[in-house]
Amino acid sequence: MNCPMHILIYKRKTRGYRNLPVRLAELGTVYRAEKRGALHGLMRVRGFTQDDAHIFCTPGQLEDEVGSCIELVKEILGQFGFDDFKVELSVRDPQNKQKYAGTDEEWEAAEASLVNAIEKHDLQYTREEGEAVFYGPKIDVKLIDAIGRRWQASTIQFDFNLPRRFDVKYTDNEGADQYVYMVHRAIMGSLERFIGILTEHFAGNFPVWLAPEQVRVLSVSRQQADYADKVTEKLLEAGIRVECDSRNEKIGFKIREAEVLKVPWMLVVGGREVENNQVSVRVHQQGDKGIMMVDEVIKELLDAIANRS
Ligand code: ZN
Repeated sequence: MNCPMHILIYKRKTRGYRNLPVRLAELGTVYRAEKRGALHGLMRVRGFTQDDAHIFCTPGQLEDEVGSCIELVKEILGQFGFDDFKVELSVRDPQNKQKYAGTDEEWEAAEASLVNAIEKHDLQYTREEGEAVFYGPKIDVKLIDAIGRRWQASTIQFDFNLPRRFDVKYTDNEGADQYVYMVHRAIMGSLERFIGILTEHFAGNFPVWLAPEQVRVLSVSRQQADYADKVTEKLLEAGIRVECDSRNEKIGFKIREAEVLKVPWMLVVGGREVENNQVSVRVHQQGDKGIMMVDEVIKELLDAIANRS
């Protein structure tokens, strides 16, 4: 957990209402003692990295702070092409109020702020009674992937417990000490898990801007190995993630291998291409694009990457 460390940073000095909100964010490594049988690919692991943040604010700032978290969720998930979300507001079990931290009034005020923030952003949501954690109400954002599956990604959790346990306070406008309002938030959540979700979403066919290997240069024979290296070097210099395959294998074999790995672009170089400073282009799932100048290829790739296509 990163929460206690952020609390220590907050508590390094006395904070007045004018100094709030304080927002602390980090890519933090966290660990969970998952049972061996519960481990599942990248989706459930024992050590992972979270895009974690904590907001310390006054009650009056809560709604705006939650609102900007929602804004950030839409912006960041939208960059990956996720525009369809399911928002769940988890609140107390009304039959069992004694098991939660915080007073009735605090729960009602916190819930109202979360609802207002959701509604201001025109998001549909469902209210899940009894789904809140003991320390406060929360908003979970589930994103919906290419084939309609739902994945838990972002979470915005309100916390009545930690400020009391760790005595986290600010001085209000009348000079009195008050417990701060604390929000935990993660946008992508576990980065490992998010990469797993993206892999499922694209079924491994990453668009060129996301692919770990964007381009593979393939020589028809060993005679074009130097030229293949030169082309690779040029692409690398342009900031493109490229690998070179100049092994002494049949070109058909090398192409098939790159196809199976779903490398978005293949640049094949044979004798003719060497002579004219060209490459023969194959785009995954689109097939042959014909012969192009190396500079032309770089320009097209950089355009595709910039447009996130
Ligand atoms: Zn936290």
